[in-house]
Amino acid sequence: MGAVETEGLIGPRAVTSLASRASPLAAAAEQLALLQRLPVAEFKTGMKPAAIDIFQINVGKLCNMTCRHCHVDAGPDRTDEMMSRETVDLCLAALDATEAKVVDITGGAPELSPNFRYLVDQCVARGKHVIDRCNLTVLLTGPCRDLPQWLAERGVEIVCSLPHYRKRNTDLQRGDGTFERSVEALKRLNAAGYGRGDPRLRLILMHNPVGAFLAGDQKSMEKEWKEGLAANHGVTFDALIALNNMPISRFLEWLQASGNLQAYMELLVNAYNPATLPGLMCRNTLSIGWDGRIYDCDFNQMLELDARHGDGRAAHIRDFDPAQLRDRTIVTGRHCFGCTAGAGSSCGGAIA
Ligand code: SF4
Ligand code: SF4
Repeated sequence: MGAVETEGLIGPRAVTSLASRASPLAAAAEQLALLQRLPVAEFKTGMKPAAIDIFQINVGKLCNMTCRHCHVDAGPDRTDEMMSRETVDLCLAALDATEAKVVDITGGAPELSPNFRYLVDQCVARGKHVIDRCNLTVLLTGPCRDLPQWLAERGVEIVCSLPHYRKRNTDLQRGDGTFERSVEALKRLNAAGYGRGDPRLRLILMHNPVGAFLAGDQKSMEKEWKEGLAANHGVTFDALIALNNMPISRFLEWLQASGNLQAYMELLVNAYNPATLPGLMCRNTLSIGWDGRIYDCDFNQMLELDARHGDGRAAHIRDFDPAQLRDRTIVTGRHCFGCTAGAGSSCGGAIA
């Protein structure tokens, strides 16, 4: 791993990472075992992938925040899990071996990776549509202050997580002061041309519920958020996507500690919607972890459920084999009810 700039990264925090507390739930096996002990239905839907449209590359778990609901268990302490330049180059070689048109860069806060700008430039040079999954507040940290303009020059789409357009709800989940910093970051993105209707400079906001309930109706929320942010803060954006919270990692810890786990899982199971299945992100996306392991999605990545070739081998970017991956069966579990509940939930928001 290269040197990582951590000075000044400690932003407002609601909690600390499971890893830093040596919590048993820091282990993916513990999370899976906890879900498995619950008296709820199994997720029995077997699924095969379609063609790979999207490479989602998780460059590491380092983040300037430590949000309560984080499915990555990211935080300022996660400096060891960062994608090396060698692995980035293996991802690029694999990308060249597919027809994928979109590269979706995530983390942690992906902008804190020493290889983030290299990866963006390489993907843009290949004519790919690049998405940066940004937590907003990172844009106010020292190494990233120039990023709004830098990303705009390259036409990178920015998908920004913001739990709510009201201060209280956002700060509850992400820590005191997060909302004001997020609004300041949104203003900087607007000043760079983002979120003003230019199709080359798309600014998407991503909402997730602040509690043990499903995401609301995406379209009506978008209207409300647009009006609220414009009227109260003079901020504009292009679209809103709404995601359910997944019952894994720190949100799983919170569900258990608050006594909401059983009820939340029942809510997800009872809201199972088969119409969401064709649009699940695991169907057309490959998720690559910081260490080059390949998964069906970012959630399976965090649960260390590797994508497997037909012969049972765990897939890794160093021996990327698109034909073998096309033949695989998607690995599923009870956490998948988080994607299939209600209108469904994927990296692109509601599905059905
Ligand atoms: S939810 Fe996003 S911003 Fe919050 S700690 Fe996790 S990766 Fe960082
Ligand atoms: S967690 Fe969601 S995206 Fe991942 S395999 Fe399950 S249904 Fe598919």
